[in-house]
Amino acid sequence: LVSRKKKADDTIVEVNGEKIGDGQTYFIMGPCAVESYDQVKAVGKALKNNGLKLLRGGAFKPRTSPYDFQGLGLDGLKILRQVADEEGLAVVSEILNPYDMEAALDYVDIIQIGARNMQNFELLKVAGAVKKPVLLKRGLAATIEEFMYAAEYIHAQGNSEIILCERGIRTYEKATRNTLDISAVPILKKETHLPVVVDVTHSTGRKDLLLPATRAAIAIGADAVMAEVHPDPAVALSDSAQQMDIAQFNEYMDDVKTFAKKI
Ligand code: PEP
Ligand code: MN
Repeated sequence: LVSRKKKADDTIVEVNGEKIGDGQTYFIMGPCAVESYDQVKAVGKALKNNGLKLLRGGAFKPRTSPYDFQGLGLDGLKILRQVADEEGLAVVSEILNPYDMEAALDYVDIIQIGARNMQNFELLKVAGAVKKPVLLKRGLAATIEEFMYAAEYIHAQGNSEIILCERGIRTYEKATRNTLDISAVPILKKETHLPVVVDVTHSTGRKDLLLPATRAAIAIGADAVMAEVHPDPAVALSDSAQQMDIAQFNEYMDDVKTFAKKI
């Protein structure tokens, strides 16, 4: 169902006036994790000031260590919704557990399935049964074929509004957090009809690479770019080193506006 052979024209996922997949470039920005109203509000205002419409933020966090901050859960989703409504934004947030899906639908506009859950087939089936777009991230060690099959699980349940996200894969290379598989973008665009997003934060894990990775993503045909922004990354409860602060975010957007297809 996700194959280009089944549907020749591009699928466009429309959220909050943004038509992801229409040939222009869209941005999904926000903190790694929701920590407080004030934190999300600062980021939400910065997005609005830059003309952006899609706010990301993790309320349910998939952390490597069980002792690390696990997210604010439903309270985090409520904060995202409040800020999004105040600033005219849509909410993109990860759901980890199928049992949280129904409650989350009241607050989230795009359901994110994280890399660690790309092959959580029961979660994929639940996401496939909802009437909201799903942003599916590529697994840490998933082949492109496995990634497409994961999307197929969602589509097979009736939900065709799927956005694929390349977020880097595990290789032997240690200079970056993951290895951004940039060629996955044109392959996914060729093999499927779905829009493709590149997460420049989790793939590189390096603030100095966000801009070149964004250039590469857009040049190679990505429909959208995701990155993390936090008002005070030094005290962030997750992914502290890799998030842009608001000033860096504004600078990044100024640069991006010189080469993105449209903002
Ligand atoms: C995220 O985007 O918040 C996240 C946890 O990313 P990933 O699933 O790609 O690691
Ligand atoms: Mn993160």
